[in-house]
Amino acid sequence: MQELTHYIGGKHVKGTSGRFADVYNPATGEIQARAPLANADELGQAVKIAAKAQTAWAAVNPQRRARVMMAFVGLLQRDMDKLAEALSREHGKTIPDAKGDVQRGLEVVEYCVGAPEMLKGDYTDSAGPGIDMYSMKQPLGVTAGITPFNFPAMIPMWMFAPAIACGNAFILKPSERDPSVPLMLAELMEEAGAPKGILQVVNGDKEAVDAILDHDVIQSIGFVGSTPIAEYIYSRGCANGKRVQCFGGAKNHMIVMPDADMDQAADALVGAGYGAAGERCMAISVAVPVGDETADRLIEKLVPRIEKLKVGPYTSGDDVDYGPVVTAAAKANIERLVQSGVDQGAKLVVDGRNFGLQGYEDGFFVGPHLFDNVTKDMDIYKTEIFGPVLSTVRAQTYEEAIGLAMDHEYGNGTAIFTRDGDTARDFANRINIGMVGINVPIPVPLAYHTFGGWKKSVFGDLNQHGPDAFKFYTRTKTITSRWPSGIKEGGEFSIPVME
Ligand code: NAD
Repeated sequence: MQELTHYIGGKHVKGTSGRFADVYNPATGEIQARAPLANADELGQAVKIAAKAQTAWAAVNPQRRARVMMAFVGLLQRDMDKLAEALSREHGKTIPDAKGDVQRGLEVVEYCVGAPEMLKGDYTDSAGPGIDMYSMKQPLGVTAGITPFNFPAMIPMWMFAPAIACGNAFILKPSERDPSVPLMLAELMEEAGAPKGILQVVNGDKEAVDAILDHDVIQSIGFVGSTPIAEYIYSRGCANGKRVQCFGGAKNHMIVMPDADMDQAADALVGAGYGAAGERCMAISVAVPVGDETADRLIEKLVPRIEKLKVGPYTSGDDVDYGPVVTAAAKANIERLVQSGVDQGAKLVVDGRNFGLQGYEDGFFVGPHLFDNVTKDMDIYKTEIFGPVLSTVRAQTYEEAIGLAMDHEYGNGTAIFTRDGDTARDFANRINIGMVGINVPIPVPLAYHTFGGWKKSVFGDLNQHGPDAFKFYTRTKTITSRWPSGIKEGGEFSIPVME
């Protein structure tokens, strides 16, 4: 069995804590590696190295830092197949989906090539007599990020690319379930020209996270994962005086109006509900058809599409629609919630229970499920299932449908399918959710826009990537300077005002 490492100071370093996490191949159920779980001492060593490296990195001009990003893009393209294979082997998603995971991260790196433009400050000439005023955007110092299992390439790159382009050092604590790709990314960043210590990977669990939260030198923490952990990291990180942004869970509703193109809506729901086995924070997990007739037509279109889905290991090639879920515990949790749906009275229209795949009996595969007649009080509606389970909640009116999405505690993404521009516009304006699709089921913003939900899907006020990333990873310093020709004789005792 392979023993994975940390990546500290430009070297693969074995864990010294004596604690490890098993890393599975979700398709076979076998343990294929173990990842070291860092303690506070190991994290502390990485922070020391990062602090030293960061001082020199901050002094490198922004254009040269951008060139490292440019080179990194080339290396990601060169190694795309290798990265995708390693990603699928630990996560379980299909190879095309794994390539998408790398590609969406790569696009953030491309955006960061524009760092010199983003880091330009402001300047006011002659703000007062002989007075000029200007601002600089300076890096924070040592920054850290804690990432989830479901996008082991994209989400680390959301964070470390802008952090490093801004002149920070970054310590990544990836998910212990699929840590290989993050380690590969750290090697590639060095090959691209980032000095040793600028991107380090410290593997671990709560112990390493708590060490990050409590370390005095770490200035900022980015987190993406489930809502309870997001809330915990936000409150403890803020209490320790750090800049923190945390992105949490989701329950994304897709409203289907009676005038929608029903084939298009059904295709969209199948991709958005079951792609990546539903393990996406932007997956659609609730379909809300408006009116019983719409609901009946939608279900009629959905059922054959869902029954045709091909579930299998990533090694089966492009033919597979989705793979296994990440762990046996995730599978058991999905099965428990499905059973609760049945017990609480929802109608299981497509029953994915007892799904089996010959030759992969120990893999963590879950068949696709479709529920109808789901109501607001059911656990399958209230909880993020994070599996291939789509719930249908029938609404009688548009107002009832939008109200459902508005009242849910999560506010990550949502979509409406309609041919009516007025309805779409009203929906986009009124909905209290961060990312909205109009005839687009998974409205994930591109790298130069920002990504982020509302309500319990986020803690903190700046989004991921886009211009917000350059705000999150820098501090503004404003300088007011006056040269002798502008100085009046004598002291000034009242607050200076510009005349
Ligand atoms: P998770 O919360 O279990 O783990 C995320 C990270 O937190 C991991 O690095 C993990 O090691 C660490 N962690 C876990 N338990 C901890 C604890 N008790 N104390 C401190 N740290 C802890 O999430 P996951 O299962 O890896 O990922 C799935 C979740 O992430 C879903 O809820 C999904 O919606 C969410 N997600 C959100 C977004 C978004 O942008 N909003 C994106 C992707 C995933």
